[in-house]
Amino acid sequence: MRSMQGKVAVVTGGARGIGRAVAELLAGDGAAVVVADLAGSAGSETAAALRSQGGEACFVAADVTADGAQMVAAAVERYGRLDILVNNAGIFYNADALTTPFAEWQRAFDVLFYGALHCARAAGQVMVAQGEGGRIVNISSVNAFLGMAQASHYNTAKGAVDQLTRCLAVEWAPHGILVNSVAPGFVDTPMSIVEGVNELESPDFQEIYVRRRRIPLARAAQPAEIAAAVHFLASDRCTYITGHTLVVDGGLSITF
Ligand code: NAD
Repeated sequence: MRSMQGKVAVVTGGARGIGRAVAELLAGDGAAVVVADLAGSAGSETAAALRSQGGEACFVAADVTADGAQMVAAAVERYGRLDILVNNAGIFYNADALTTPFAEWQRAFDVLFYGALHCARAAGQVMVAQGEGGRIVNISSVNAFLGMAQASHYNTAKGAVDQLTRCLAVEWAPHGILVNSVAPGFVDTPMSIVEGVNELESPDFQEIYVRRRRIPLARAAQPAEIAAAVHFLASDRCTYITGHTLVVDGGLSITF
């Protein structure tokens, strides 16, 4: 018996990268998965791939900044309930704190923080009404608690996501809704390509993080390794962890 049989999950940004790996793992374990993403053709292709692997999945074209309620409604309409929300949709771009227009800061917060908040509120309403608890997993980042140049918009938005995790965990504990974050370090996804350069292939990354082992495990993660942590926190095996940020970074944030 697959452990997520009968569960219904929404994975935002599920078309590719970490979100796709999460959707694959949840669907492979029996959950019906709504892949919610801006990226239409990639999202449809991901949902079709999950179905061809024997899973149950559908794609909903949705922007987390505006369509949280719609993606949750789609899950309820199609599968009758909602048990799991994975707030994964994200964007990254370099932005200088002195010169970047405010709108660029706002864009990061709109997607990373308010997007997660909208979706969590929509999911929370359904889960509370169902009265059977639920699981919300927010994808944060080690950037939430580490400083980094050219990334104050992203890092502060991710810090806010972790704080949202703790606050919702407290507020929704009486309803049996467990809210946690997963904070990845470097992950081998399209997000690693910034301004046309794959930072995982750069000489600096190879020298500092790999050869000198600033990442003790000396490599970036594969999306499936992040998905494994999400799967646990989204599962019924996770019963006494809430408001926690699980760091999955190969040891990056414990070194200096
Ligand atoms: P990715 O760029 O490969 O995938 C992100 C997905 O989110 C895409 O499918 C994109 O279409 C979707 N998306 C973007 N904006 C959206 C919106 N407004 N509404 C709906 N969907 C939207 O990135 P990834 O590496 O898989 O990142 C997933 C999450 O993990 C993000 O929250 C990211 O910040 C976080 N993260 C990534 C890394 C990394 O190194 N890749 C590290 C730490 C945290």
